[in-house]
Amino acid sequence: MSNQPDPSSPTEALAGGRLTVDLGALAGNWRTIAGWVGVPERTAAAVKGDGYGIGLAAAGKALADAGCSTFFVALPEEGVRLRQALPSAAIYVLAGLDAGSVKTFAGNDLRPVINTLAEIDVWLSARRAGAAGGAAVHVDTGMNRLGLAPGEALALGADPARVAGLNPALVMSHLACADTPDHPLNARQLAAFRTVVRAFPGVPASLANSAGVALGPDYHFDLVRPGIALYGAAAGEEMPALEPVVTAEARVLQVREIAAGETVGYGATELRTDPARIAVLGVGYADGYHRAASSRDGQTGARVFLRGRFAPLIGRVSMDLMAVDVTEIDGVERGDWAELFGANMPVDEVAAHAGTIGYELLTGLGRRYARRYVG
Ligand SMILES: *Cc1c(COP(=O)(O)O)cnc(C)c1O
Repeated sequence: MSNQPDPSSPTEALAGGRLTVDLGALAGNWRTIAGWVGVPERTAAAVKGDGYGIGLAAAGKALADAGCSTFFVALPEEGVRLRQALPSAAIYVLAGLDAGSVKTFAGNDLRPVINTLAEIDVWLSARRAGAAGGAAVHVDTGMNRLGLAPGEALALGADPARVAGLNPALVMSHLACADTPDHPLNARQLAAFRTVVRAFPGVPASLANSAGVALGPDYHFDLVRPGIALYGAAAGEEMPALEPVVTAEARVLQVREIAAGETVGYGATELRTDPARIAVLGVGYADGYHRAASSRDGQTGARVFLRGRFAPLIGRVSMDLMAVDVTEIDGVERGDWAELFGANMPVDEVAAHAGTIGYELLTGLGRRYARRYVG
């Protein structure tokens, strides 16, 4: 197993937190999903949000080594960075293209996800400037985010000359409620998408994100686009987390005893009625650990995993620090590492305490951790 510190991150000795990214687990999760889909070429990877927080280039290389050949990023700037890491992959840019990014698409062989009819003309100019790949036609089937209206897509499909100029490599849509299998919008979007797909004969089709894969083969079409499941977090009711990829830990900076009747942290929000021992950790909300995960009187917060036991947060998470109750855990001392999330403390449990989802914790990790890649 390789063990490489990320040279763009601080060293462990100088940081309050450390991240261990298991690229072997990432590759294994991709293989798991590709196995469900059946054909490796039909499993792409979403690596937007800096590879869901783990690092775009590292994620891209590990997934390509596992066999992934098609990638989705959000922005042209992410496309450029991924192209530097992966010279031959198909890279789709979800935000589409503008006059200002035409040269970047052409020069880096990026594929736009066409979201508006006006973008088609911009894409034609990119093709004249040398863009060799195909474009994705994105159709909004009910999410009301990005994409052509179904009527626009059907009219486009009825104009073969226009379609040929566009060189479509994919027709795609995105599910709003795939994480809730019983939601009626899933079937409505599927039906609307099927109608659109028929208007683009011979063009591969793509609908499913991670949770959409779990909705079953009807939703798989020619290409699935999993993101969050690759990174080891839950993707909905039918899609529990695969292997954890990210372990986030915080250094114990101080252990202190507090007396009955004292409070901990800003706002004195939590009053201890018994004496307690607390450990102060060197990670806070500036590192993406949400303040909303704090404990307060009458409401437990998230927990960390320390010396083989769970320690609950006590008081408010502050910018660079947080405190946990280690009264029941022997031997805790400065220099210990507490797991914020990872194999022992699911990222989704921490996210639930903060009223959010694993996606937001992973993509918000920030730049202050000592980061290393293993596997
Ligand atoms: C983010 C995204 C995905 C991946 O979604 P997950 O829920 O992370 O699997 C797929 N397609 C589109 C259009 C996206 O924006």
